[in-house]
Amino acid sequence: MSLAPDPSDNPALRQALRELDVILANAGVGVVFVKARKLVRCNQRYAEIYGFASPEAAVGRSSVELYESEDEARSLGRRAYPVLAAGETFRSEQLMLRQNGARFWTQLTGRLIDPADPSVGSIWIVEDIHERKLADAALADLHAEQQLIFDHAMVGIVFLRGRRVTRCNRAFEQLFGYGPGELDGQLSRVWYLSEADWKAAGDLCYEPLSRGDSFHAEMLLGRKDGTPVWCEVRSKAIDRSDLSRGSIWITQDITARKQAEQDLVRSKAQLEALVAQRTEQLSQTVAALELKVAEQQAAEARAERLALFDALTGLPNRHLLADRASQALDIARRSDEPLAVLFLDLDHFKNVNDSLGHRVGDSLLTQLAARLRGAVREQDTVARMGGDEFVLVLPLTDVAGAAHLATKLMALASAPFHVDQQELTVTPSMGIAMFPTDGGDFETLCKCADAAMFRAKKDGRNAYRFFTSEMQAQSARALQLENGLRRALERGQLSLHYQPQFALDAHGGDTPYGGDGKARIVGAEALLRWHHPELGWVSPAEFIPIAEASGLILPIGEWVLREALSQLRRWDRAGLPQLAMAVNLSAVQFRHDDLPALVGRLLDELGVQAHRLELELTEGAAMDNPAAAIAVMNALHARGVQLSIDDFGTGHSSLSYLKRFRVGKLKIDQSFVRDLTEDAEDRAIVDAVIRMAGALGLQTLAEGVETEGQLAFLRRQGCQAVQGYLFSRPLPAEAFAEFVLDRIAPLSAFALT
Ligand code: C2E
Ligand code: MG
Ligand code: MG
Repeated sequence: MSLAPDPSDNPALRQALRELDVILANAGVGVVFVKARKLVRCNQRYAEIYGFASPEAAVGRSSVELYESEDEARSLGRRAYPVLAAGETFRSEQLMLRQNGARFWTQLTGRLIDPADPSVGSIWIVEDIHERKLADAALADLHAEQQLIFDHAMVGIVFLRGRRVTRCNRAFEQLFGYGPGELDGQLSRVWYLSEADWKAAGDLCYEPLSRGDSFHAEMLLGRKDGTPVWCEVRSKAIDRSDLSRGSIWITQDITARKQAEQDLVRSKAQLEALVAQRTEQLSQTVAALELKVAEQQAAEARAERLALFDALTGLPNRHLLADRASQALDIARRSDEPLAVLFLDLDHFKNVNDSLGHRVGDSLLTQLAARLRGAVREQDTVARMGGDEFVLVLPLTDVAGAAHLATKLMALASAPFHVDQQELTVTPSMGIAMFPTDGGDFETLCKCADAAMFRAKKDGRNAYRFFTSEMQAQSARALQLENGLRRALERGQLSLHYQPQFALDAHGGDTPYGGDGKARIVGAEALLRWHHPELGWVSPAEFIPIAEASGLILPIGEWVLREALSQLRRWDRAGLPQLAMAVNLSAVQFRHDDLPALVGRLLDELGVQAHRLELELTEGAAMDNPAAAIAVMNALHARGVQLSIDDFGTGHSSLSYLKRFRVGKLKIDQSFVRDLTEDAEDRAIVDAVIRMAGALGLQTLAEGVETEGQLAFLRRQGCQAVQGYLFSRPLPAEAFAEFVLDRIAPLSAFALT
């Protein structure tokens, strides 16, 4: 480019101009000469900046085209003119257009060539500052963004240098309760609770900050008003190699979180305490419960022992026996082995108790239990059924083995017992039943063994008996009778027969009482009859013991009493003389508490005078428990009822008691009467009974009088009354009435004539 008009005439100038051309061609800035708004000349850089192909391509173009608009070009002209006209340099940043239409920033510097004559033109230096402008703008944006964050952050931000605040945001001030700008220049000490805290924080953060790491901590700091505030603090050095350039601290109020954490810790502790307390309570409860359970178990075990073992001897009782026996029988059945059941009962053991007292009796039983236990094998069971009854279950024992053991037990039981320096001897009776011959189940075997023992007693005691088929038949019949008896009352199979009782004339011979002139009818004995649909007539001697054993005797006995007394009233109405009615009482009835009341009720109900009823008791019923018997007799006596002792002489009677019993009559048993004429001994007995009765003020009635000879003897000895086939068999009610009326008719006739 050449700016001078013609340098050819001056070589020095030419040289200077060439040098200038070189400078302009290689300048880093664009240079242009503008005259009357036209580009006159420009250098290479200028062409490049505006996108002209070459400096020559730019020459002649209007400078106005290089602006965004003509207005823009004029506006620049208006601003530049006064400066240029004053001969000064004009400078401005200006947005301009490249040839391709792209807008870009320039730095323009212009000067008039001759300030006195602007028409000569101007020189402009152009720099492309577009890149720099863009970078400045980006930086400004970034800064603005950072400022926004700084100003509006939820966390407190503070810049420290030398532990003093250089800058902090509003959030930081608010966090610690300071007004805007109040913290500027302050030492960071102000938001620590103590000097020591502040120092410690400084020591703590030095290390990580100098390493370039961030420091992170939770601290309890203080507000302006002194209230503590939990903060989470993060800080970092601005330049880790030069800590003096300061650090940035980001601080967040975590009081709420801390509070929540502490609450959590507290409630966890409370919960743990509660759990511990509950656990303690629970373990106490459990311990108490365990104690209770243990006590309960002990009580149950005790109850079980009591329920399964006999309290006196410690032997199994009937419950445990049943259990053991059924187990033993199961085994015997499976393995096809024999088994024996042995019943043992002491003879007259009651006498030991009665005469020596229960303590002695108990001691004897305990010793006997030990002997029995010692005599058997491990697998055998010895049980006490109560009283002096023992049952032994002996597995794997055949007839020979059972007999052997029974002999051994006989000797053991008969050997003397010692209680309180006293020597006692008892004898046993035993009954044995064999499995499977005698029965397949325990109940049947027990019945058999019991029947066999009963036989041993009958055969004179102090013996053992095996169950036999004859006993079998008996026990089968007993079972049949028991079952039949249960329905006998309701089915009307029971009835009463009446046997007349006669008073004997003391003078003998031919008293005018009764048809035969020998005795007059004074009463009737009611005797129970049972007609079994299959078995026919069954003797009361057979079925009364069964009724007693099964308890059926109570309803049956009540029926007998009612029926006998009703019959008495019917006879009264039929015009029979005022007879007495003798009714047999079972020991079971006699022992029943309700007896006196029952008798009284029936007498009232049926309108019978008490003295017309005579109750017959056996010796056993009266002597079994004399004290109780006396009480019952007194009650009956007080009611006016007569009492007699039946079958006198067959049982045991104590004279001392007889005296105290409210009994009016002894009935001499027919076994003594039967052989009176042949047997001198019987005669002596009957004689003695009659005398004794007389001495005690008691009447006598002889039963079973069948012959004139017997009658004559009895009359001679002073017996007051008789009863027997000689006069009459027991009769049905109608027949009895006829019998009585027949006998009194001649008397009436005699009386009438
Ligand atoms: P017991 O009270 O001694 O009755 C007398 C038994 O001798 C009656 O037998 C009677 O029929 C019988 N007898 C009467 N005269 C003669 C005679 O001259 N020769 C012979 N050999 N026997 C004679 P029975 O009726 O078979 O009664 C037997 C036993 O049954 C009674 O003996 C009595 O102990 C009992 N018994 C009868 N009825 C009842 C009743 O209603 N209740 C109770 N608890 N027992 C009764
Ligand atoms: Mg009788
Ligand atoms: Mg009798």
